[in-house]
Amino acid sequence: MNISKQVQDLSKKLSGKIYYEYDMRRLNWFNLGGSAKVFFKPNTLEELIFFLKKFSNSLPIKVLGVGSNILIREGGYNGVIIKLGKYFSHLSKLDDNTVISGSAVLDKQLSNFALENSIGGLEFLSCIPGSIGGAIRMNSGCYGYDISKCIASIQTVDRNAIVRTIKSEKINFFYRGSNLSDDFIFLSGTFKGKKQDSKKIKKKMEKLSTIKKKSQPSRIKTCGSTFKNPTSQTQKKAWELIKEAHCENMKIGGATISEKHSNFFINQGSATSNDMENLINLVREKVFNTTGIKLELELQIIGEKK
Ligand SMILES: Cc1cc2nc3c(=O)[nH]c(=O)nc-3n(C[C@H](O)[C@H](O)[C@H](O)COP(=O)(O)OP(=O)(O)OC[C@H]3O[C@@H](n4cnc5c(N)ncnc54)[C@H](O)[C@@H]3O)c2cc1C
Repeated sequence: MNISKQVQDLSKKLSGKIYYEYDMRRLNWFNLGGSAKVFFKPNTLEELIFFLKKFSNSLPIKVLGVGSNILIREGGYNGVIIKLGKYFSHLSKLDDNTVISGSAVLDKQLSNFALENSIGGLEFLSCIPGSIGGAIRMNSGCYGYDISKCIASIQTVDRNAIVRTIKSEKINFFYRGSNLSDDFIFLSGTFKGKKQDSKKIKKKMEKLSTIKKKSQPSRIKTCGSTFKNPTSQTQKKAWELIKEAHCENMKIGGATISEKHSNFFINQGSATSNDMENLINLVREKVFNTTGIKLELELQIIGEKK
């Protein structure tokens, strides 16, 4: 059966949204990219499992959080994009210092929930504009904290609709990643903090937010750090290497680099995904030619070139 027919048939059986050829531009922070061949927003876990079992073809599947770390190419994504719906936005307290969070919860919401419940250790999440699913995938973090330091376990489902709970001891987290299979759709995470005075927690959140505002631009079409900070070879951060290679004023079409943080690339409004990718490649090449260091991408690029 062809894909558009399968989508049509499934749409009659599912309450969640399912579309054939869905424009992705409003689903990522750059506001760029083409269409997803199939877009599915399950309303419940049962629906997600039903979809995984029934949708039979070899198209790749990619889950999207809030798209704050992803560049989608102009030619679109020749596969299935899944975005988790409301059912995956639950937050609850398990005990005095443990929170269970659905994957569609925003990092800031989890951090605020921890504050309301006097649980310290999750303050850094208030500075990251993604979802919990994205944060687990990226092992997101800042100012010395990251997901690996507060996660106790995760719940996932794979392409074959097998649901698993994986304890953090079994996961090898590293800088902006882990050994968790690309095939996993994260459903939820259990986070461990420590019982703390809420005034102290609030103060810490405010402190981190002030540092962040000073060093990073806000209210722009960006995906945050474009490149990872190199972990070996040099003590220098990616933004320092970009400056050293005199790239901070570079521009291709509507794709530019933030004056405040040279590792933040910006869609000024008229950029195409191609402009953005070309700028990324050009900066990487210039940094390599100047410093001998090959910068690795932090943001993810998906889809086909046009
Ligand atoms: C202004 C700004 C500041 C930022 N500051 C920081 C920072 O300080 N520290 C930091 O680490 N990052 C930072 N980021 C990057 C980004 O916010 C994080 O990487 C964030 O965790 C991505 O979450 P997301 O929901 O947007 O994921 P997306 O961008 O939607 O996806 C990112 C990856 O996660 C995967 N993914 C998303 N949800 C799931 C799921 N449920 N199951 C399986 N895989 C999933 C996607 O497939 C993709 O591979 C910043 C970004 C911006 C725009």
